Amino acid sequence: MPIYEYKCNSCGAEFEKLVFGSQKVTCPDCSSDDLTKKFSVFGMSGVEKPFAGSSGCSSCGSSGSSKCSSCK
Ligand SMILES: [Zn+2]
Repeated sequence: MPIYEYKCNSCGAEFEKLVFGSQKVTCPDCSSDDLTKKFSVFGMSGVEKPFAGSSGCSSCGSSGSSKCSSCK
């Protein structure tokens, strides 16, 4: 679910809004639609997914040994 962060150009309020499709977004404070979309996240901010690379299990990402005990 995309969460968009907006800043209202009318009153300066900043808020986050879940947006589905082409849903109209208005400021919760002044109901203005003069908004700047700042960025979007997908419910998880600051989440990084480092991949193990050549060493470790290619299926589950476990590192350290050439064989993973949880998956063959
Ligand atoms: Zn506003």
